[in-house]
Amino acid sequence: MKLFLNLAAGLMLLASACTNSGQSKTSSTSVNSDKDTVEANDAPKKEATAAEILSRKEVPVLCYHQIRDWKASDSKRAHDDIIPPANFKQHIKMLADSGYHTILPDQLYDYLNYGTKLPEKPIIISFDDTDLDQFTVAAPELKKYGFKGVFFIMTVSIGRPRYMSKAQIKTLSNEGHVIASHTWNHKNFTQFTDEDWEIQIDKPTKTLETITGKKVEYFAYPYGVWKPETLHKLKEHGFKAAFILSTKRDETNPLFTIRRIIDPGRYTAKNLYQSINKSFK
Ligand SMILES: [Zn+2]
Repeated sequence: MKLFLNLAAGLMLLASACTNSGQSKTSSTSVNSDKDTVEANDAPKKEATAAEILSRKEVPVLCYHQIRDWKASDSKRAHDDIIPPANFKQHIKMLADSGYHTILPDQLYDYLNYGTKLPEKPIIISFDDTDLDQFTVAAPELKKYGFKGVFFIMTVSIGRPRYMSKAQIKTLSNEGHVIASHTWNHKNFTQFTDEDWEIQIDKPTKTLETITGKKVEYFAYPYGVWKPETLHKLKEHGFKAAFILSTKRDETNPLFTIRRIIDPGRYTAKNLYQSINKSFK
């Protein structure tokens, strides 16, 4: 019980603190992927090298947390992670009016890895941390424009007050949104122990697959923090790609360091438009 209380306290803290400013610096110099590519004529699809993936035009990926009005008790810093519903609605409308088409992670994966074509002005809209307002406020707004999103779920929070229930997650999945993993309790990926690969990765995947009846193949790092040494393990544990925040991608495993930007609550729709164009080239 005490453990649960501690967890609950921890969750309250991180509810508005998904990001962190002290990003780990990563710069890997070795480029050594696809070392065993076989030049067979009947090869179904040729996987891109890391260099090819990095050379493709980046698809914008947006990241949201809480969608609610600010409270006096919110810190200024928290306003980055909390977007008032009125602003959120304007921003999503702007994306639709500007001709953006939401795509899903499988489409992004096929584009990056196989060069498959995407619709014009592709974008991914993603949500972290299981907040209930993502279901009650964001999903209906996306629906107005035929948009689909990606929901990175922290499984410890499922069914708690202010978080989504199993049934709500299942509904999102049924409606064509993608349910993806954001660990069990938001533990920093760079601090994973051997046991954490079971606790923070394998078990949450199983939980989400049981809820949705679909495979869970995408991951977002808590706080956007990662380290190059263990990226390959995500692939071994069944993931096709993983999402960071707006820092530099890994040169060896770019599929496991797909960039996202936060749409801060204080932004106007125009700010967001400019930020997208500046950040994704
Ligand atoms: Zn998070």
